[in-house]
Amino acid sequence: MTHYLGLSRMLRLSVQIVRPYTLAVVLLVSGLATQYPAIASEDAPLAVREIAPGVFAHEAPIALADEGNLGAIANLGFIIGQDGVAVIDTGGSAAAGRRLLRAIRQRTDRPILYVINTHMHPDHVLGNTAFHGSGATFVGHRNLPRALAEREKAYLDANSALIGASFEGTTVIRPSLLVDHVVELDIGNRRLRVEAWRTAHTNTDVTVLDLTTGTWFLGDLVFVGHVPALDGSLAGWIGILGDLRSRSAERVVPGHGPISAPWPSAAAPLERYLTRLEADIRSSIRQGQTIREATREAAQSEAGAWMLFDAFNARNATTAFHELEWE
Ligand SMILES: [Zn+2]
Repeated sequence: MTHYLGLSRMLRLSVQIVRPYTLAVVLLVSGLATQYPAIASEDAPLAVREIAPGVFAHEAPIALADEGNLGAIANLGFIIGQDGVAVIDTGGSAAAGRRLLRAIRQRTDRPILYVINTHMHPDHVLGNTAFHGSGATFVGHRNLPRALAEREKAYLDANSALIGASFEGTTVIRPSLLVDHVVELDIGNRRLRVEAWRTAHTNTDVTVLDLTTGTWFLGDLVFVGHVPALDGSLAGWIGILGDLRSRSAERVVPGHGPISAPWPSAAAPLERYLTRLEADIRSSIRQGQTIREATREAAQSEAGAWMLFDAFNARNATTAFHELEWE
């Protein structure tokens, strides 16, 4: 936890250091001391890396949303085809989405054809605002419109409080192209396989496979380094991990953690955590423990293996307890 806090603080510090310098350069070049442009971190393109030909991803810090990171705390990506671009997740605010759009425009001027959201969580969808009106089709799980409608107000209120003034203008944009099972998107001599999954991390999870390079965007069905967050079904998630592992991919992009991870080995720590959580909760239920007792002890052996453990583990245990107590 201190690690990520340190990182986020460093990020803000570096912005404070860079800003006056950049400003000075601009003033020097333009010679217009009265009309300098506002150069804020929220205007800078997000850093992206080309992890396979035509496939770009932003590796987000492992952190909670705050005013320094604008809610850009989930890995984001885009894939360039001959006809246009598909975007995969958009960040946690309109400002984060605009930074992603700038990164795309540094690489290509082709139109944005699709914006795909891997699931409902705010750090993956709220940047959609920046792509609204661009002509892009928004794509998501068949459950996504309803899930977003139910949580819209809570997501906007919570993230506005965390991110502050820079959150202004952020709205919830729901998908119009819904994925029931599998949809293939053609972005020009390049096909993307968007697949909807049964309830696991959430009830809105989709994955995106670039058939050209074998790069598989898994959203939050896989966490690496960042402690998993359970908002769907523990048993469902463990089951789906088995399905995902049985497929091959050249590389995967998890929702949080290193943006190009080996497959299926990247799933091993997550699977270990989820099975530990399941075993501990089942044992608590068998012993007749209260939910309070169960959540205090569950998966504590995993504490040292994950960043943000304390921010999510008790909530995961609570969700798991409610799911498993009725079995
Ligand atoms: Zn998520």
